[in-house]
Amino acid sequence: MTPRYDLHTHTWFSDGTLSPTELVERAAAAGVNVLALTDHDDTSGLAEAARAAAHCGIELVPGVEVSATWEKTTIHIVGLGFNPDAPALSAGLAELRTAREERAREMARRLEKHGVKNPYEGAWGLAHGAIISRTHFARYLSGQGFGNTMGAVFKHFLRRGKPGYVPGRWVSMEEAVGWIRTAGGVAVIAHPARYELSRSKLLRLFREFRDCGGTAAEVVSGSHGPADTETMARYVRESGLAASVGSDYHGPENPWRELGRLPPLPDDLLPVWQHPDWPERRPPADETKL
Ligand code: AMP
Ligand code: MN
Ligand code: MN
Ligand code: MN
Repeated sequence: MTPRYDLHTHTWFSDGTLSPTELVERAAAAGVNVLALTDHDDTSGLAEAARAAAHCGIELVPGVEVSATWEKTTIHIVGLGFNPDAPALSAGLAELRTAREERAREMARRLEKHGVKNPYEGAWGLAHGAIISRTHFARYLSGQGFGNTMGAVFKHFLRRGKPGYVPGRWVSMEEAVGWIRTAGGVAVIAHPARYELSRSKLLRLFREFRDCGGTAAEVVSGSHGPADTETMARYVRESGLAASVGSDYHGPENPWRELGRLPPLPDDLLPVWQHPDWPERRPPADETKL
C-alpha cells in the first residue's frame, strides 16, 4: 500500500486549535501515514508531535510554514525535514515572531479605534504563547459579536484595506529558502492558488523559487479545487519543481477540510518525498548514541 502523505498541518502552537498529540492521533486515525506539522513561524510543537507519532506508529516530518514576501506579495513557504535546532533557521523564526508581536500591537491599536475592547489581550488569550496571528484576532472579534463567521471577520476587518489590517514585516523568499536549506530541509511553496497572481506571474514565482533553491510546490492542497490542482500541476511541470500534498488542516471547526481526505497527486508528477533533495530520515536522538 502506498503511504498517505499530508505535509501541511497546524496546531495550537500557531493558529490551529488542536494540541500536537490530538493532531497526530486524528491524522493516524484518518489513515495518514506520513504527517508534517508546519506551524506558522514556530517549531515548538514538533517535539510533542514526534512523541505522539512514535506512539501511533506514523512518521512525523518536522515542518514549519514561513511567512515571506515576494514582489510585495505575502507568500507562505513550507520547510520540511530540517533540523529545528539549526541556528540560522531558529534565529530567523524568532525574528518573525517579534515582527508578529509588533504587528499585533499595531492591529490592536487600530481595532480599538473601531470600538473593539482589549483586542491585544483578547487575541493573545486565545493563543498558546508561541505566535499571534490574524486568526487569533478573528476568533476574538467573532466572540465579541463583530461577525458570525471567520470569513466575515476577515472580510470586514482583517484583509488588506480593512480597519485592522497591518502588513507583516516578513522575510524575503530567498532568505526563507536559505534558512530551510542550510538547516538540511526542503522548501515548498504553500497553497499557490491562494495568492491571486496572474498565470504569468505565478510561473515566474515557481521559476524564481526553483532558482533560489526551492524544491517543490503544493499541487494538492486543502485550499485548492480541482481546477487549481490542474493549473499547479501544469506549472510544476513547466518550472521543474516537484509536487507536494498538504491539507493545511487547522482543526475540526472546518469539517469541510478534514484530515486524510486529499486526492492523489497526478501520476506523472515527481512527489517531493522522491526528490533527491528530500532528507534521509534522521534517527531519533537516543538511536544516534548507539
Ligand atoms: P497571518 O499570518 O497572521 O497574516 O494570518 C494568516 C492566517 O489567517 C492564515 O494562515 C489562515 O489560517 C487565516 N486566514 C486567512 N484568511 C482567512 C479567511 N478568510 N478565513 C479564515 N481564516 C483565514
Ligand atoms: Mn493559518
Ligand atoms: Mn498558509
Ligand atoms: Mn498553513
